[in-house]
Amino acid sequence: MGGSVKMVEETLKLAYGEDSKFIKDKRIAAVQALSGTGACRLFADFQKRFRPDSQIYIPVPTWANHHNIWRDAHVPQRTYHYYHPESKGLDFAALMDDVKNAPNGSFFLLHACAHNPTGVDPSEDQWREISYQIKVKGHFPFFDMAYQGFASGDPERDAKSIRIFLEDGHAIGIAQSYAKNMGLYGQRVGCLSVLCEDEKQAIAVKSQLQQLARPMYSNPPVHGALIVSTILGNPDLKSLWLKEVKVMADRIIGMRTALRENLEKLGSPLSWKHITEQIGMFCYSGMTPEQVDRLTKEYHIYMTRNGRISMAGVTTGNVGYLANAINEVTKSS
Ligand code: PLP
Repeated sequence: MGGSVKMVEETLKLAYGEDSKFIKDKRIAAVQALSGTGACRLFADFQKRFRPDSQIYIPVPTWANHHNIWRDAHVPQRTYHYYHPESKGLDFAALMDDVKNAPNGSFFLLHACAHNPTGVDPSEDQWREISYQIKVKGHFPFFDMAYQGFASGDPERDAKSIRIFLEDGHAIGIAQSYAKNMGLYGQRVGCLSVLCEDEKQAIAVKSQLQQLARPMYSNPPVHGALIVSTILGNPDLKSLWLKEVKVMADRIIGMRTALRENLEKLGSPLSWKHITEQIGMFCYSGMTPEQVDRLTKEYHIYMTRNGRISMAGVTTGNVGYLANAINEVTKSS
């Protein structure tokens, strides 16, 4: 039910660090999960079973499926402030107030890096403050890390938020996914881990996670897990993978610069600096649903109606066309 031990071992090193004392001390309960979604769902079910009166605090906005996952696990949802529409950045003060005002011992869902859909991540200093306040309140931080490596190009750097919480002595949960950073979307390979007080608790928690998995899907598929463990278990293949992740992330970062430059060259009256300030696969452009509809109808450019551009779809070949279309639909606003 727990899946590939080797894959899980390698996956924990990415999140907790190669030389993590928590791994050495066997304090982490971890199982292979059905990609990031499956890891979140397994955790939500675990939360419901063992903290039946708890709630989950989810950022506004968030990946829409988070709402479905915790809803179907029958965990009541609350929201916390995250995105600031005027600055197209983080509403840090409001976020901190929500952390402070939540009942002690609440569960908080945090995007470890490359927040979906906004592309807005807290700075390192802001993460430190969030960690401090979550500790003061005795909240439980659950990290969804669907894009490790896709923000900065370096999986170590992208795990910084998690490492800060580990330094501060939190118990945490993490959902990890290889859908994006290894291109294994169709294989559904990921991991759910929970950092426990000691080895004894970790054994008990792992056993409970397996009991949750058994009646849902019995055991996770083996093929994707073998791909991951083969790559990460071999130093040459691992360094090749790290190089390729950086190429992918750098390409996306390059397309952000190109899109912003093109819009500025066209003389757009609006500020587009958020395109390069945001990070990861998505750009939360600030376009209205009506403007997005015009892009679709008049230019055959497709994105979600909340104005979220998938930067992975932008290329040197289409960035000029995209910038021109965005300028046309936004210039009179
Ligand atoms: N979490 C976030 C924030 C995501 O954006 C995604 C993917 O779209 C996922 C989780 C789940 O990804 P998967 O289940 O494909 O690993």
